[in-house]
Amino acid sequence: IDFTLRRDSESVAFIEDAGVDGAGMEGTSRMTYAAFDTFTSRLAAVLTSRGLRPGDRCAICLPTSIAYAAALFAAWKAGLIVVPIGLLLSESEVANILSRSNAKMLIHAEQHPDHLKECFASLSNGIAYEDLAGKANVLDEPTHRSIVNGPDIALILYTSGTTGAPKGVVLSHNGLVYSAMIAANALDMSARDVITTPLPLSHVFGLVAGLLAGLMSGASVNLIARFQPTDCLSALHSHGTTIFFGVPTMFGALIAAAGGVAIGPHLRIASSGGAPLSRALSDRFHSMTGIRIIEGYGMTETSGVIAIAQPGDEDAAGTVGKPVPFMQWKIRPATDLSDSNDKGELWVKGPGVMLGYDDDKDATEAVMDDGWLRTGDIVCVDDQGRLVIVDRLKDVILRGGYNVYPAEVEAALMEHEDIVSAAVVGRADDDLGEEVTAYVVLQSRSTATPESLIAWSRNRLAKYKYPRSIHLVDQLPVSPTGKILKKFLK
Ligand code: ATP
Ligand code: MG
Repeated sequence: IDFTLRRDSESVAFIEDAGVDGAGMEGTSRMTYAAFDTFTSRLAAVLTSRGLRPGDRCAICLPTSIAYAAALFAAWKAGLIVVPIGLLLSESEVANILSRSNAKMLIHAEQHPDHLKECFASLSNGIAYEDLAGKANVLDEPTHRSIVNGPDIALILYTSGTTGAPKGVVLSHNGLVYSAMIAANALDMSARDVITTPLPLSHVFGLVAGLLAGLMSGASVNLIARFQPTDCLSALHSHGTTIFFGVPTMFGALIAAAGGVAIGPHLRIASSGGAPLSRALSDRFHSMTGIRIIEGYGMTETSGVIAIAQPGDEDAAGTVGKPVPFMQWKIRPATDLSDSNDKGELWVKGPGVMLGYDDDKDATEAVMDDGWLRTGDIVCVDDQGRLVIVDRLKDVILRGGYNVYPAEVEAALMEHEDIVSAAVVGRADDDLGEEVTAYVVLQSRSTATPESLIAWSRNRLAKYKYPRSIHLVDQLPVSPTGKILKKFLK
């Protein structure tokens, strides 16, 4: 594999605003494709000189930054299998991933995040990116030799851990290249685009849609280390961003921070994925910007995208568009659902599907059958063949013989103008099996009470669906990717 299509290009591959990662530099730095190629080849040589061999595992724990991209491509050029580690994971989660993944080296930033200080200090195989980069900068230019083949393992990528402990997904270079090309093609990405994303690169969405698809298209990629709505809005303005990738909670925060002012004058595509996007949020964004958020659906186990709405398809709101090319799919009746006539569990098969869960045959066999992958998601299809994600099978509430889909209840709650975010879960109930319970975050000026919200939702939802108890909370537990962690609410 040649990693850089535009190896000799003097066009800008990366744009990064200094200061956001605590580096203390001023201004904006840019790196061309040619410089990125040369630098990552040198960095690969440094990794090899440290005794790492093709097939060895190398963990990377860095902010969303040029440094991350450089470490990743250098490791791949050296034939290593990369184990991305989310910066916002807890100390025990990081320690767990490090020991399970058998990484020979961990590349981290010179400045450890506070909560990981002890964990990193106790490592014998940790090394600061800045040290490696310093050595790479003084090397003579090494000749770059590609030692990686398409079917080789590229990543052990951990899932978000929304439903349980994160699972280590084994992905090939071919799978990632496929998924990135599909994303780039679906969004018509080109060298004229400027892509901004604050998504973590330890998650498949930011990694594949933002970084890999961006580089494959020759676009300029603006990586943001830490999502902060006002900084993000100014990046969209100052870099002339044309494509933004984010999770729904980020769109909510951008809308609130923009306060009616234009969001990115050059924006042509705003794409959301990773979690359900409520219709209310999508409409709010549309009325502010004139742009419909393009929703994509995917998972770590498929190297990313499974389906994506088509830009310009005005009727796609509320769906995730059609399944992408080369993706076989089928909908299987889900045994636990009482009303499964038009919906069921989605199974997929295609070039991006994982090789399996790392060192976990049982878990792999539980979700894979003859190349087909059980997504664990309940879907249905609209009259145009677009997929509608109903909910996760694991989250469905069974109340007195009826299925209640939390996503539907959450979407109804989000229509209340005081509600900023909502999560609905089942609570054990002696008579009904489970009862519908909601946790909501209100606008600070709101005077709504649980009773008034219950009364409000009773008018909008069927009798068996509306929440019988509502808890007002300051914030909901979210994963590093911004997903609501219902496992903690349950
Ligand atoms: P874990 O598997 O560890 O419980 P996770 O499933 O959240 O965590 P990811 O691989 O990051 O880990 O996320 C994939 C899941 O995210 C999908 O299976 C689906 O449930 C959800 N998802 C992704 N995109 C969308 C979307 N556009 N709408 C609704 N849900 C989505
Ligand atoms: Mg999952």
